[in-house]
Amino acid sequence: MLKLKGSIEHVPVYVPGKPIEEVLKEYGVKTAIKLASNENPLGFSPQVKEAIDQHISQLFYYPDGKAGNLRTALSSFLGVKEEQLLFGAGGEDLIQMVSAAFLEKGSNTVMSGTTFPNYKINALIECAEVREVPSADGHHDLESMSRSVDDRTRIVWVCNPNNPTGTYIGENDLVSFIERIPSHVLIVLDEAYYEYATAPDYPNSIALLKKFPNLLIIRTFSKAYGLAGLRIGYAIADEAIVAQVNKVRKPFNTSSLAQVAAIAALKDQDFVRRTIELNAAELAYFYQQLDRLGLSYYRSYTNFIYMDAGMSSREMYERLLSHGVIIRPFHGNYIRVSMGLHEQNEIFFTALRKVLNEN
Ligand SMILES: *Cc1c(COP(=O)(O)O)cnc(C)c1O
Repeated sequence: MLKLKGSIEHVPVYVPGKPIEEVLKEYGVKTAIKLASNENPLGFSPQVKEAIDQHISQLFYYPDGKAGNLRTALSSFLGVKEEQLLFGAGGEDLIQMVSAAFLEKGSNTVMSGTTFPNYKINALIECAEVREVPSADGHHDLESMSRSVDDRTRIVWVCNPNNPTGTYIGENDLVSFIERIPSHVLIVLDEAYYEYATAPDYPNSIALLKKFPNLLIIRTFSKAYGLAGLRIGYAIADEAIVAQVNKVRKPFNTSSLAQVAAIAALKDQDFVRRTIELNAAELAYFYQQLDRLGLSYYRSYTNFIYMDAGMSSREMYERLLSHGVIIRPFHGNYIRVSMGLHEQNEIFFTALRKVLNEN
């Protein structure tokens, strides 16, 4: 009999959004739209395509394990030292590295009960105790989270803005939370939706690094930059933390293509601005339509919306699939819908109305 690492048996399996081809096959619909994985409906910058085309002939080389060119470009873009950056094959790679470097049997880690599932999955793999603190009205309950920290706590996860609820934590609340966390605990700020978080009091987390050296910020090129398929993300932290976590990084964890694409993506901030503008307009459209339908939702600071479907989320999910619309079901009646192009969002609401009327 094979003997697995004890923790693995109880690790939940991450369930990704259903791919379009699968829905076309299984549901016999002619077209389908995917509003399930918070991808950028505008795709990515044309400058990225150019950079990729130019790089194709170099693919026989191993990538630069240090991601030197991207490191230089990003450090000047963010105004941080090159040594403060760590690159990963997406944010999830960084979550895994941080978990591997900090967590072990006998330690614990604190997170919200309604947040990104990767924190829990990786903590369980590392045999750490997971302390999930129930969220309060779609927000992290920072007060209870800080009270869950003890001398065995290694990491506290703060997803800001939060996936799946789309809510955010303002600078004052975040700072007073950080001040309550002992300095032996790493606070991970997952800012996967950083570019979409346009609230005036959204924290300037990089500035906070100077005052709080136990912070680590995770960001990604998967969301606003539209490079989800390439797998590239980064962490920003004190250089001493980066040096330690770097030890568990696979030497060639980010591809040369992803590095080249990320450099080009960074240069085209116009594309990011267009992305943010479209997203803001479509969120406004969602609010207006949902208000008309009398369905409640959380105001979003991301490119998705967490809403009450008016029926069990599982049933709504299945019924929308039969109309060729892919969304993500969550607990109870809650579904998460990513912002698409306007035409796609109209298709979503047409399908939603049909399903609600069928009931
Ligand atoms: C999408 C996402 C990530 C990272 O995704 P990658 O594609 O691995 O970069 C991390 N955290 C949250 C909350 C996300 O939604």
